[in-house]
Amino acid sequence: MRTRKLEIACPVCGSAEVYYTCTPDCCYNHVCNACGATFEPATRAAGGAAPGIAPPDPPPDSTDPTAPCAVCYAPAACMTEEGGVVCGKCGARLALEFEEIHKA
Ligand SMILES: [Zn+2]
Ligand SMILES: [Zn+2]
Repeated sequence: MRTRKLEIACPVCGSAEVYYTCTPDCCYNHVCNACGATFEPATRAAGGAAPGIAPPDPPPDSTDPTAPCAVCYAPAACMTEEGGVVCGKCGARLALEFEEIHKA
């Protein structure tokens, strides 16, 4: 299955201009370029796995949104062509959630 880079809409204002501000081994702090809110995306297992996941091509930049897989903990959540979220590493189907939401 082909995938593309994870897309995250700001949980406060809905803007897609969201940037990842930390390193994958630290935290998942993201900032919204439109309203300045910060938040940490998280995932939970949505049940099942997608077969034959191909990692996003081109791969995400270091500032592109990312989220940890709830199953294998790899920072590899990405979008399927149908708009669902899967882990690019283990293929688990995921649901995106937000934690630590702070309005600017
Ligand atoms: Zn926002
Ligand atoms: Zn995974």
